[in-house]
Amino acid sequence: MKNLITGGAGFIGSHLTEFLLNRGDDVVILDDLSTGSLENLAGIASEKLRFFSGSVLDQEALQHAFTGVDRVFHLAAAVGVKRIVEEPLESLRTNIHGTENVLDAACEAHASVLLVSTSEIYGKNTSDSLSEDADRVLGSPLKSRWTYAAAKGIDESFAHAYWQSEGLPVAIVRLFNTVGPRQTGRYGMVVPNLIAQALDDQPLTVFGDGRQTRCFSYVGDIVPAIVRISETPQAYGQAVNLGGKREISILELAERIIALLGSQSTIQLVPYEEAYADGFEDMRRRVPNNAKAAAMVGFDPATELDEIIRSVAAGMEDSRRPDSHGYAESRMQLHR
Ligand code: UDP
Repeated sequence: MKNLITGGAGFIGSHLTEFLLNRGDDVVILDDLSTGSLENLAGIASEKLRFFSGSVLDQEALQHAFTGVDRVFHLAAAVGVKRIVEEPLESLRTNIHGTENVLDAACEAHASVLLVSTSEIYGKNTSDSLSEDADRVLGSPLKSRWTYAAAKGIDESFAHAYWQSEGLPVAIVRLFNTVGPRQTGRYGMVVPNLIAQALDDQPLTVFGDGRQTRCFSYVGDIVPAIVRISETPQAYGQAVNLGGKREISILELAERIIALLGSQSTIQLVPYEEAYADGFEDMRRRVPNNAKAAAMVGFDPATELDEIIRSVAAGMEDSRRPDSHGYAESRMQLHR
């Protein structure tokens, strides 16, 4: 099986690359290295991996990358709340036009598609258990915080329409705060940010009152489920949630990180206006209903938060060593 992974040099993309190569598949990566990094692939030595440097906005690069491909995992996107707030135009272009290009190219190549979407599309819906058909509650389209959710919603509609009108076999997964080694805090993601601060004995920056909650899931649980869903024809034309089991407030998360890592750090509450921009709206709560994924592919996000925190911290410490081979090795150890 020959797979194309757009965004394969990113955090999740690089773990997916490893997973598919370990199964004996061929992998082609198309990545413009805007937020991804070759360092994420440094631990991989395989003749079955090819890397193309280029954007999903570049038709020529896409054509090259699609040669002989059976299946595409579309992960390339402008990600991270911080980046989206700071660069709304670029993120809209990449996330809307880029996805349309990939779906179009997949149609021509007769390849199947797995579109990676996000729990952000549910917006401010604070339901106890967000199922796939839950209503979307979004703020004003003029607030750049919501452009990511808006663009990803359009991507999903595009995918669904390609399936309906063109018969393109395409499944969608909505990821809820996936974390693990190699995720960078550079674009605002809370787990790597707080862990880096704790390792440096710096104050942990908790935004707002810290009582907002999330359900973090481990990349090692998410990647196999993504692949299984891509191989389930019943999932075509549908979206499937993939998230963690345990709801935790950001304040509790910060406390747990400090305790587990034996850090001397304190916790600093930072107002949203200071962290992002005036008028920033956060999501108070985001809890997945994973029943569909459990029924469809036996999804069970078993890795506990403590284990996730330890593995992210170990990966970070490893990458800081001068003779580091990147995070790949630390993850391998975790699963040995
Ligand atoms: N957050 C925080 N400190 C940080 C980064 C993020 O308190 O250094 C908060 C952020 O405001 C949000 C939560 O942590 O309430 C999760 O943020 P992230 O950007 O990781 O994911 P998302 O908001 O997309 O769920």
